[in-house]
Amino acid sequence: MPDCIFCEIVHKRMQSDIVYEDPEVVAFHDINPQASVHILVVPRLHIESVQEVTTDQVELMGKMILVAQQIAKKTNVDEGGFRLVINNGVNGGQTVSHLHLHLLGGRRMTWPPG
Ligand code: 5GP
Ligand code: ZN
Repeated sequence: MPDCIFCEIVHKRMQSDIVYEDPEVVAFHDINPQASVHILVVPRLHIESVQEVTTDQVELMGKMILVAQQIAKKTNVDEGGFRLVINNGVNGGQTVSHLHLHLLGGRRMTWPPG
């Protein structure tokens, strides 16, 4: 997908700090971290948003959660707790149109989010 930053990262045409990758999923540090642990988990496949997910991608969505679970353990936020966020569309605060799961940890989160 042209002009997609996360496709560029996934295909290693753009630098990022990758912490996990497999044939379907890539995870890397957010460039503008909002917590001491802020990692983005993305499918290699360019899926624009939650609204574009199809039934044949259900397993892929589940895999993203399992990858986040592993990274939470690896970054030692699993016991203290962490937050997973998927912003969707303009009102959801989505700024990059390539589906991504934010893994945020290392500080106490507040609710409701801003
Ligand atoms: P959204 O607002 O779409 O939910 O989240 C997009 C996230 O991508 C933001 O937290 C932003 O800091 C991050 N981001 C934007 N551009 C880049 C980039 O070039 N590299 C990395 N690693 N993160 C980025
Ligand atoms: Zn993309």
